[in-house]
Amino acid sequence: MILYESTRNSQESISSADAIKRGISPTGGLYVPKSIPAITLEEIASMSKMNYNERAIFILKHFLTDFTDNELSECVNKAYNNSKFSSEDIAPIVDLNENLYIMELWHGPTCAFKDMALQILPHFLVKAMKKTGEKSEIIILVATSGDTGKAALEGFADVEGTRIIVFYPENGVSEIQKYQMITQTGKNVKVFGVKGNFDDAQTGVKKIFTDEELISQMGKNNLKFSSANSINWGRLVPQIVYYFSAYADLIRKEKISPGQKINFVVPTGNFGNILAGYYAKCMGLPVNRFICASNDNNVLTDFIKTGHYDKRREFIKTVSPSMDILISSNLERLIYALSGNDDNQVSQWMKELTEEGHYNVGPEISGKIKEDFWAGWSNQHETLKTIELVYKDDNYLLDTHTAVAVDVYDKYVITTGDLTPTVVVSTASPFKFNNSVCKALFAEDEVEGKSEFELLNLLSKKTGWSIPEGLKNLDKKTVLHDSVCEKNDMKDVVRKSF
Ligand SMILES: *Cc1c(COP(=O)(O)O)cnc(C)c1O
Repeated sequence: MILYESTRNSQESISSADAIKRGISPTGGLYVPKSIPAITLEEIASMSKMNYNERAIFILKHFLTDFTDNELSECVNKAYNNSKFSSEDIAPIVDLNENLYIMELWHGPTCAFKDMALQILPHFLVKAMKKTGEKSEIIILVATSGDTGKAALEGFADVEGTRIIVFYPENGVSEIQKYQMITQTGKNVKVFGVKGNFDDAQTGVKKIFTDEELISQMGKNNLKFSSANSINWGRLVPQIVYYFSAYADLIRKEKISPGQKINFVVPTGNFGNILAGYYAKCMGLPVNRFICASNDNNVLTDFIKTGHYDKRREFIKTVSPSMDILISSNLERLIYALSGNDDNQVSQWMKELTEEGHYNVGPEISGKIKEDFWAGWSNQHETLKTIELVYKDDNYLLDTHTAVAVDVYDKYVITTGDLTPTVVVSTASPFKFNNSVCKALFAEDEVEGKSEFELLNLLSKKTGWSIPEGLKNLDKKTVLHDSVCEKNDMKDVVRKSF
């Protein structure tokens, strides 16, 4: 039985169902397992003969010990199947060149890796509510800068016992992202543009979450708020699976022998994806290094090199917008583990981050981080150049986020000379960020003045890659959610929608 505690209160002791239901601890900390289950090399080798869903059930049951096997397979099979994912393998591995592989995590309905977690989270949540005797229906509130909103909508659409309301900044998301959201079907979904930027939308949602009057009114209607953001344990745990899956696939393809170490390169924002890999290593997955790749917002590069986390810098809008982040929330889980579960120390660092904008973990923990992680960053010019070079040399299309990772990998090899087999974690389809991808590949006059929808066709025609189902004919779909609200009216909008 694995129980969960908070990074800001190690005395807490709750089941995984409770941790998933609560999302964040009352102390503001994040839930982590009290111990990390171990998996043997024989078990890992035997995963090479399993399909993705079998691998997922095998890994998940080590962490979600209060879920039955039946419940877990129900969740897994509802999340990862042919009607949701365009690849049989769910998270296929592609050979890029010698020693370098790409794991494509974008075959889900929204064409970005958030589907890997958000397709399964709603099913965990519904089961967790039942297990903990909770009778209310859940309302998921999301403020999104693009990718998360659509992935959450796809995950929660028509899931019984849940409703979802998404707010996006009216002029702050790409055309494709906006159309993905406003054409969303499902009888339990609502989508609103907000007159303001992402921060306004997020502030509005945070206020609603703590509005006592609204919460009590909802209680009378048997409704309860919950969140689907990336600090929920239910979003982190499904991401551990694909690190094992990548390794098992390399064994199956006879690229590595069981026990041989590999590297992973992860384009990183909130530190959720790469942290899941770190947990896989702690469980026994043979990993040499995790290479943490950042864009111009390179807070993590500096932190991993020095132990000093310092968000006091300009926020830069880049061509890899899903990594434009200055506070990587999931890092709290890593420093908690490396400090020996020192909840007081972690609380102190997080207080310093909020009040002063920085903290320093000191030489001992910094040294431990460097044993498992290497970090680098790619500026926008380098990122676009990487898209061009990889297409020329390997005939493979990278999206802007994955290109950051490939560029940082090149820097890693130049700096360290390490030729360990390496898997680059690819987080988005090149079609999703097609404007930048087209600019990287084609002459200016071919791209200039074209809408993102026209560019989908251009990219497909010139490369022979097909447009993913989820992005096809988006501009011809019926707009189902055309409401826009003032930022001060968000609460009213929520109140009126049930
Ligand atoms: C969210 C996202 C990331 C960053 O992942 P984290 O888990 O926040 O580090 C990278 N690439 C894409 C395309 C994303 O949507």
